[in-house]
Parts: sequence; structure tokens; C-alpha cells
Amino acid sequence: MNTTDDDLVVVSPLMLEASSVRRGLHGGCVVRAGPHARRARRVEAVLRQHPARPVAVAGVAGALVGGLRPGDLVVASEVRSAQGTHRCRSAPLLATELRKLGLTVHIGPIVETDHVVWQPEGARLALDGAIAVDMESARLLDMIASRPAVVVRAVVDTPTRSLLHPATVPGGIAALSALRRIGPALRRWAAAAGPRKVLLAGPRSFCAGVDRAVEIVERLLDRQEPPIYVRKQIVHNSRVVGELERRGAVFVDELDEVPENATVVFSAHGVSPAVRRAASVRRLDVVDATCPLVSKVHGEARRFARDGHTVFLIGHAGHEEVEGTLGEAPDRTVLVEKPEDVETLEVEDPAKVSYLMQTTLAMDEAESVVDALRARFPALSGPGSDDICYATTNRQDAVRVVARESDVVLVAGSPNSSNSRRLVEVAQREGARAYLVDNVHEIDLEWLVGARTIGLSAGASAPTVLVDEIVDALAGLGTVEAQERTTATETVNFSLPKEVWHR
Ligand code: SF4
Repeated sequence: MNTTDDDLVVVSPLMLEASSVRRGLHGGCVVRAGPHARRARRVEAVLRQHPARPVAVAGVAGALVGGLRPGDLVVASEVRSAQGTHRCRSAPLLATELRKLGLTVHIGPIVETDHVVWQPEGARLALDGAIAVDMESARLLDMIASRPAVVVRAVVDTPTRSLLHPATVPGGIAALSALRRIGPALRRWAAAAGPRKVLLAGPRSFCAGVDRAVEIVERLLDRQEPPIYVRKQIVHNSRVVGELERRGAVFVDELDEVPENATVVFSAHGVSPAVRRAASVRRLDVVDATCPLVSKVHGEARRFARDGHTVFLIGHAGHEEVEGTLGEAPDRTVLVEKPEDVETLEVEDPAKVSYLMQTTLAMDEAESVVDALRARFPALSGPGSDDICYATTNRQDAVRVVARESDVVLVAGSPNSSNSRRLVEVAQREGARAYLVDNVHEIDLEWLVGARTIGLSAGASAPTVLVDEIVDALAGLGTVEAQERTTATETVNFSLPKEVWHR
């Protein structure tokens, strides 16, 4: 055993495993557990000596399921034994760091047994969901008690090649060579460990428009045989889209990918009249999931255009909502993205100009564009009520409050989600380091080093489960004190379109 001032203890069962891990750590506190009581006492002594350090259990394992190859790593989401189950909540965070090192990583339950597992016992264990088996992890986690702990195991043998197969030797070499590479990831995981406060911005996650759009597709999938076609992503979130795809939704970019007479759903972001006409020509069975607050902006565009106005649409080029709104009066609408665009605008009649907004803009940025427009066109008229919707406003207010108290702000949301990206920018403008993460696997442990207060929000298209998964993973790094910071309570609810009920 070699101890240094590292903030990590690694426990490895066998000498070869311990020396492989130690080589990758370039020293560090690696203690060999071994099968005997004397070794166990040694581990206990080291743990007592370093009571606050996080602990990694690292060694080799047998794979229980196909798809795992010798040299692949298994990071335990939990470790099961006859005595019970240990959850390893920070597994996704460590797995991300290991993947960055070019290693192949699987996350799943590991089961501990007191004997070498042969078939068909391995197949029986796999039926319960375990993906790998070892002989020590649960026992070692018992010793570690409540401090942050991870288990990483390198695969030696697979269900089709048992330990007695000649390929075990190269499998063992591959496993030990993988263990030699895990050191930098273990160090990053340990550096990020520690107790912290998590401030949950409220409101966060689904808004009424997203709730309605997702429910429309879910109800259609309940009521009729798949496929249900959806033009564009129903809402901009990869988890939502993936889950609906698994149930039979087919997402298409354009209507010519939808067979005639098939059911197609228009996404929450809305469509232009040209798309509605194309659907009618193809005799498609349309169910419209456009958010009513987006439809309101479309109505305003039609009204201003009918009155002979030039309409300035404040928004981001290429966003589906913007394309849909522009399509209401393409000859009379001009997209304006930033205040600098205003200088060069040409209009037919400066007395007949108006503006509209994309619903998911940052409030302060949109206001600066309106100010520039008003300075250049004093007759400018605007919408009857704010186009930036209640959900965008509420989430931005909440993340602003949280950001002021946080070292780091994490926003759950997909990169193509406009409102999620705006939340990151709002938090950054409050001085916090803020990051957008599509899921827990996108968290970089480097962000968390020294960050004792983490703000957490989620875009209007991001399901709450993403936030729950992030809190859970953070709790695997140390005690988490979660506090809600609620700045508004939302009661908005939109009814479903009649087309959903009448089938
Ligand atoms: S963010 Fe606003 S406009 Fe967009 S779907 Fe939600 S409620 Fe509707």
C-alpha cells in the first residue's frame, strides 16, 4: 500500500488489480482488500485513517449479458448481494469521465456472489437485470458505509466465454490494461465529491403547452395503432422524443415523408399556413399540438398584416416557431434578431409598423430590440399582451434568483431548446457559471470542483425526471441539502383538441 495526500482511497481486491490501478493513478492511496480477514482489517484501518475521503472499489468482473466485451468497464449503478443492495448514485458522473478517456463503459447493477458463477446461474442473475458479477464489491461497500463511493469493474470473461476458456488470458490482460487507464477519471470524481446545497428553481420543467403537446401524442398512441407521425420534434427535448419514438411515434422533417391519409401531429412550435395547405393536399389526418400561446402570436401577425403593417418579428432565425409565424404573412414580416439589425431596416410606411416576439426569448434581450425599434419608428405598435409567454418569464425569473446564490447553475434541456438556452444565458448574466445539460451524463465533474451551491433548473420542454436524475447523481458525491426557490406558482392548463377525443 502506498498512501499520499490524495483525496481518494481506492480499494482493489487482488494484487494485480491494485497494481494496475495504482499505475494509472501514479501512486495514490490504493489498498488491496484480498480474501482474508487480515486484509479486511487493513482496509478498515486505512478507511479509519482517512474518514472523509471518497472511496472507489476497482477490480475485474465477469459479464452476465451480451454486448460487454473483455476490457470494457462496468460502473455499478447498484451492487446487490444476499444482504441487500447498495446504490452508487454518482455512477453516471464517473462513467462520463471514463468515456472521455476513450474507455468503453456500461452502467448497470453488479451482483456479488461468494463463488465463481458459471452458466446457467449467470443467465439467471442476468434475468434480474444484473450486467456483471464479482465476489467482493458489496462486502467492501459495507465497510465504506455512507461516504461517497463508486464501483468500477473491468470485464474479463463473458457469458459465451467462461473463465475456463483459453481466451480468459487475453481477457484478463485487456481488463488490467483498462484498469490502468481509469486513474484520471477517479481523481476527477474524487475532486468533485463533498457535501453541497442544491437550489431548485421553481417553476422549472414542463409548461402547459408542452404538457398538452406530449399528452396529445401519448393519447393518440393509446387510441390507435402506430405509427403516429409527428412533423418536427413535438417539443425540443431528446428524452421526450426518444420515449415517444419507442412507443411508435415517427418524427419527420417534412410532410412528404408521411404516407397519404396517415395521422400527423403538428408540433407545439406551430406551422405556417403553407404547411397546413400541404397537409390538406396530401389528405392527412392532422392533429394540431401548436401551443395556444404560439397560435395567439400567429393571430396577431395576421391582424397586423391585414391592417397593412410591416411586422418586425423579434426572434431567432431558423427556429421552428419563427418559421411558422413568418409564414403567416411572409411578404409583410421581417425577422429582427438583435438591436443592431434595426439600423438597416427599410419599411414601406413608418407610420404602419408593429412588432411581435418569439415566445421563448430572454426578456431583457427582447426589450433591448423593442427599444431600438421604438427609437427608430416612434409609431411602432406591439401585441395586446406580451408574446414572451408566462412559462418563459417565470422560468427566467426563478433561475435569476437561484443564480445569485449559486456557484454553478445547471439547466436541464436539449441544445435545440430555445427557452432552455435562454435560462443558461440569464443565469450567466447574473454572474454564475451556468451550463446546459441534455441529461445527467453531460455533467462535467470539473464544473463541480469547489462548487458548494448548485442551482438547478430545467427548460419548459425538459421533463422533471431529468432534474431528479441530476439531484440523485449529485447526492452520490456527498450529502445534498435540496431547497426549493419558488418565485411563481403556475396554474395554466390548456385543453386538448377535439381530434384527440373523437377517435
Ligand atoms: S414555452 Fe410558452 S409558448 Fe412555448 S409551449 Fe410552453 S407555454 Fe407554450
